[in-house]
Amino acid sequence: MSTFDNIQMVDLKNQYLKIKPEVDSAIQEVINSTGFIRGKAVGLFEEELAQYLGVRHVIGCANGTDALQVALMALGLKPGDEVITPNFTFIATVEVVALLGLKPVLVDVEPDSFNIDISSLEKAINPNTKAIIPVHLFGQCANMEEIMQLAKRHSLYVVEDNAQALGADYYFTNGSSRKAGTIGHIGCTSFFPSKNLGCFGDGGALFTNDDTLAETIRSITNHGMKVRYHHDRIGVNSRLDTMQAAMLRVKLKYLDDYNQARIEAANLYDSLLGSSNGITIPHRVLWSNHIFHQYTLKLTGFDRQGVMDKLANKNIPTMVYYPIPLHRQKAFAEFQQNAAIKEFPTSDFLCKSVISLPMHTELTKDLQEYIVHNLLSCL
Ligand SMILES: *Cc1c(COP(=O)(O)O)cnc(C)c1O
Repeated sequence: MSTFDNIQMVDLKNQYLKIKPEVDSAIQEVINSTGFIRGKAVGLFEEELAQYLGVRHVIGCANGTDALQVALMALGLKPGDEVITPNFTFIATVEVVALLGLKPVLVDVEPDSFNIDISSLEKAINPNTKAIIPVHLFGQCANMEEIMQLAKRHSLYVVEDNAQALGADYYFTNGSSRKAGTIGHIGCTSFFPSKNLGCFGDGGALFTNDDTLAETIRSITNHGMKVRYHHDRIGVNSRLDTMQAAMLRVKLKYLDDYNQARIEAANLYDSLLGSSNGITIPHRVLWSNHIFHQYTLKLTGFDRQGVMDKLANKNIPTMVYYPIPLHRQKAFAEFQQNAAIKEFPTSDFLCKSVISLPMHTELTKDLQEYIVHNLLSCL
């Protein structure tokens, strides 16, 4: 068996090299034009992504965290309004809720899909609840059909955190399908370099089918103005850079291929791992495909850190997404003291048992065999 050095969780360099001439000329064109802010490529990318997603409006912004913040601002939520989010996610989802003076309400997740647990969600809804932020974690959708039904029944907004599932398909029980992020009132995504559609820095976007919300979002991302120097509301400065938009236009053409490469790599990991005792391969739900932003296993009965250390000695990186559930984060201690829900057994379990293997578009069979061989031999 061959050996490998310089294995990475995400291989952005080799992905870039395959499309270097296209990317370089797109960036050079922006430099030549000097239209660095709100240049031509931004509007073109927004249109092309809207077309790809089948959504009426895409509005670029500076990063995925800003997209979530702007979404909540656009919905006109008031201090004290409650926003429900899963407890097992990246901090950004909940950070923006607290930052805006809204009240984050954490709920537990499903042990198999890692996404928000519908019965826990239902129990957390009360008359102060105004919005739900489901997260499509690791590349697979939360149960949007049930979430939208609950939202309708209780008149709640739904903001999809689609930072990890751009391009995933959601299948409704009536046989129709929609792209992840286009089902709720607003969808948010991130173009952080390691995301399924990543740029060369920070970037993000919001999606909506609602014309009025779209106009509000566009205004908020640009200092609350529509006509220059006429400020209709308090906004922020959160724009997608033209250079990022230009290279995203190139990469968007390959997004389906990239997601397919991740799916195939995940299937290969599955078959190489087989039915090894104590390892649970990623679960696939019926209502969504899984585009594997992360390939995340559950390890039970092993010393996880020991396994990670042994693999690190062979220069095989692994990561824990996420090691600490949000309810145990210092930043949220104050909220959790007064929170109605204090126990999150599944999140606690997952934070102790998950481990993510390298997952990207440039994995080879040899490399995956090497990773799995070493993982199995150190258990
Ligand atoms: C990456 C990510 C974000 C934030 O995106 P940034 O562009 O890094 O601000 C938000 N939510 C989730 C689930 C993410 O993975």
